[in-house]
Amino acid sequence: MRVLVSDFGGLRVKWGIFEEGELVERGITDSSSISDPQKFKLFLNRFSFDRFVLGFAGLIKEGTILHAPNHPRWEGYNLYRVFSEYDLLVDNDANLFTLGEAIYGAGKGKRFVLGVTLGTGVGGGLVIDGEIVRGAGGLGMEIGHITIGMEGPPCNCGSYGCAESYLGGVYFVERASRLFLRHGRSAPKSMKHLEEAARIGVSLARSLWEEYGRYLGILVASLINIFDPEVIVLGGGIAGAYDLFKENMFKEIRRRRVAYVLDTEIVPSALGPDAALWGGCYLVCGTEASPNKSPKGNSESQT
Ligand SMILES: [Zn+2]
Repeated sequence: MRVLVSDFGGLRVKWGIFEEGELVERGITDSSSISDPQKFKLFLNRFSFDRFVLGFAGLIKEGTILHAPNHPRWEGYNLYRVFSEYDLLVDNDANLFTLGEAIYGAGKGKRFVLGVTLGTGVGGGLVIDGEIVRGAGGLGMEIGHITIGMEGPPCNCGSYGCAESYLGGVYFVERASRLFLRHGRSAPKSMKHLEEAARIGVSLARSLWEEYGRYLGILVASLINIFDPEVIVLGGGIAGAYDLFKENMFKEIRRRRVAYVLDTEIVPSALGPDAALWGGCYLVCGTEASPNKSPKGNSESQT
């Protein structure tokens, strides 16, 4: 069986082709070139596959995209109807990330795994005994919209002070830019720029990552207090800066978690950008999927 898994994030679309549970080809493309479902259909024409798993960054109910702030032209579409010619399975991208990490990655061997994706937005997933927990209406685990600041900045969901409005890449870069400009420096354009600036010792950038760690610690402490998971796996583009924010994150967690919960592991993703691809593969291939098999024709192509 040939399976296409696509991880449709805020800025980038990752894809992988699996043959009999083995990753044989993968690539990444800019999501702005696939701004609506029709364009995505054209994009899919290049692949041949039997089954298709789509992990999408947005609120999805029974295949309908209810809210996707980074992809407004996708909102309202039912993907099972739009892509009816394919044997399709749609899920939230953070659910697939968490499933991939729970089965093959940093949560392997653990029964209760919570995933946090830190990218353009902030997503979450919960996997218990190898099953994704989605909530009564399929819309649970929107941890990016937990309020962590009562009078905090507006969030694109309509609320204020959501975790995403502090930790989402779009918001964080915006805040950093204002600060940099105020100090007479040119504004950083992305989280990657901010990471690079911190790594070469720009003190403004370093203090911003410390602040990032504090806000993330507040969120993670709440997640520990609610769920008491065995492990929390941090993923997404921003997780690469883990060493820049972890100290402050752990400090904040120690201050805020219930005192008796002492052994929650908090670790960065083990599968990196492939985590959601493996999660999607596991959904349709089950245990046949194995990242330990050596990927052949493994092209990280910029298409
Ligand atoms: Zn929100």
